Amino acid sequence: MMPRKTTISLIKCDVGSLAGHHVVPEPLFNIAGKNLKKAKEDGLISSCHVFNVGDDLQLLMVHERGESNPEIHKLAWDTFQEAAEKALKLKLYGAGQDLLKTAFSGNVRGMGPGVAEMEIEERGSDPVVVFAADKTSTGAFNLPLFRIFADPMNTAGLVIDPGVAGGFKFEVLDTVENKCVVLRCPEEMYELVGLIGTVGRYMISRIWRARDGLICAVGSVTKLSKIAGKYVGKDDPVMIVRAQRGLPALGEILVPFMHSYLVAGWMRGSHWGPLMPVGVKNAKCTVFDGPPRIVALGFQVANGKIASDDDGKPMVADLFDDPAFDMARREAVEYASMLRRMGEFEPARLGVGQMEYTTLPQILERLKERFKPA
Ligand SMILES: [Mg+2]
Repeated sequence: MMPRKTTISLIKCDVGSLAGHHVVPEPLFNIAGKNLKKAKEDGLISSCHVFNVGDDLQLLMVHERGESNPEIHKLAWDTFQEAAEKALKLKLYGAGQDLLKTAFSGNVRGMGPGVAEMEIEERGSDPVVVFAADKTSTGAFNLPLFRIFADPMNTAGLVIDPGVAGGFKFEVLDTVENKCVVLRCPEEMYELVGLIGTVGRYMISRIWRARDGLICAVGSVTKLSKIAGKYVGKDDPVMIVRAQRGLPALGEILVPFMHSYLVAGWMRGSHWGPLMPVGVKNAKCTVFDGPPRIVALGFQVANGKIASDDDGKPMVADLFDDPAFDMARREAVEYASMLRRMGEFEPARLGVGQMEYTTLPQILERLKERFKPA
């Protein structure tokens, strides 16, 4: 019998939020919930879960239509459009801000929303973790992905599980040249770190198990990196990671988040900030529009669906809603406080080329005549 192929699609968009860039409000969830429920009744998708991180509305859908399916993407696009209209009516902040195009053309990639999709052949048991972060960019996942799939000090399986020990292959996207390269670890570990340490330019887009090409992780960065004159990689990222049985264990996937680390984004997309792992109830941005937050949801893919409870409700574990991440949260607050004491001085502020927007050209223009030879 052919193994069953199931697709996990996580598509997100900032369609407007409450009290600034803080949180997705209830009426927008209701629209997403209604549309996805109908899509499930119509047989388009088999399971869904709607959640948010900060101002990003997240549609998690499981179905059997493969990646980049026009009907699935249209469902997401129409839902974001409808939610954006509601946001506009409510005069929510940034209504429809991520919907960069007006007409849908078969795929939401390149139109504003962020997408991570993975078609899998279901294993005997297939645990999956989806990550979603707000107030940061795709390069923010380089560090944890390296730790999970290449660092033997993080992932014991790389050392002691023969199923994992063969290592992994990383597809790295160069968002400036719009090219990608596949590097194999452990053999090319130093080359990999050389690239992905430059988080504003090189981003891990896919990871496979080296010995058989099994897909293990997918991020929301794509080869279509530039839209509307800016990089998609600057967008609040999502990713899908598979766990266990010849792959890193769930705990090995989560342990990089035991400590906070600095990511690009935060206020006005122009500052370094500490990433704070939180449960969904705390996935809302406050201090200096942050600190940047990340949530992790775990579930089982089973027979083309998210495994559900006796009432048919998908069982989804809120993995960072756990005291084990209290230390990272405390560190995040401490780092945030240290960085904000520096105000608009680098390295608290991003370098000029990396800032989402800056008035520096206008300042230089105004002062042009007043600059004299030194
Ligand atoms: Mg956002």
